[in-house]
Amino acid sequence: MQLSRRITGILTDGDDGWSVFYRARAMIAAGRPVTELTIGEHDIRTDPTILAAMEASARGGHTGYAAVPGTEALRAAVAARVQARTGVATGPQNVLITPGGQSALFAAHLAACDPGDRALFINPYYTTYPGTLRALGLDPVAVETDSARAFRPTATQIDGQADGARSLLINTPNNPTGTIYDHATLQGICDVVQARDLWLISDEVYDTQVWEGEHLSPRALPGMADRTLVVGSMSKSHAMTGSRIGWIVGPPGAIARIADLAVNTTYGVPGFIQDAACFALEQGRDLEDRIAAPFARRRAIAAQVLAGQDVVRALPSQGAMYLMLDIRATGLSGVDFALRLLERHSVAVMPGESFGSCAAGHLRVAMTVDDDAFADALTTLADFAKGLT
Ligand code: PMP
Repeated sequence: MQLSRRITGILTDGDDGWSVFYRARAMIAAGRPVTELTIGEHDIRTDPTILAAMEASARGGHTGYAAVPGTEALRAAVAARVQARTGVATGPQNVLITPGGQSALFAAHLAACDPGDRALFINPYYTTYPGTLRALGLDPVAVETDSARAFRPTATQIDGQADGARSLLINTPNNPTGTIYDHATLQGICDVVQARDLWLISDEVYDTQVWEGEHLSPRALPGMADRTLVVGSMSKSHAMTGSRIGWIVGPPGAIARIADLAVNTTYGVPGFIQDAACFALEQGRDLEDRIAAPFARRRAIAAQVLAGQDVVRALPSQGAMYLMLDIRATGLSGVDFALRLLERHSVAVMPGESFGSCAAGHLRVAMTVDDDAFADALTTLADFAKGLT
């Protein structure tokens, strides 16, 4: 039977450098020791206290259907967190609980765009973005940015693609670049969004991983709360990737409609996961800071390892759990560099090409192994790069 164009069109035929990732997985499966710096997942598991709250909730009977838009308690807890962090008045009616940030990205775009609409996103991008937009039957359009500006988009770059567009998706702190958008960058983005009457979809899943500067939510800028859908998640902030728990924050009218979608797709998130999320949020910043701390440490290690050489140029890495390295001085593409590094030294990193054409000649390094192994892997990478010049 013929499958739909939408489902068969989610992935394109291009390899995009994912062969490095699959090769690393195959080497690990064959028992070879590989330092795995590809995927954005913590090297710790969900905190035992959160698991205890999850178990207590499940044993207490919260295993039936839960309120589809989210429990009142969790919606209120997320609203309070958002209001405290951004200063924007936010109540439970502004919050929809979703099974992770990924489904929130899908639902937010479904709310903002009709099939065939032009949906903008920034290149380099988190890998699922174009596929998410294609799955919705949208026309995904990447806005190109420059390594020299740490891939921060300018208003002109966005405006140049905005004819006929319906939405713009941004991500700060950014995966894969580690860049945080400052106020001026966000203001430029919001000016275009307002002038072009776009929805802004703001992926803020790394909002607790800030090493330099501060995280600003564009929803807090004048005139933006009514046209912004913020995507949040507990995957990164609370090391709860497997619990599939996230949210959308937006205008109440949009949230109510996206809840209609949830009734007809996911039917909500398990109650015991929501109760565990409530418990986790109640722990406040202490727990979030504890979970973020190893990445800050490893970022400092990277700065030490890479000091005193000029073959590998590290982008600022102001936030998120990644380093973006410019290796163009070696003359190799990101894919070739990463493949050779893996074969010769058993260190697996992602080629920049996996995140879009603008990150060609770069590498994304996830800071997700213990400090000593991370220092060793980066030293190996820097020595390997030097040997190529
Ligand atoms: N956005 C970005 C930028 C991400 O890096 C990720 C996960 N790697 C997600 C969204 C989705 O996260 P989740 O579905 O686990 O909440």
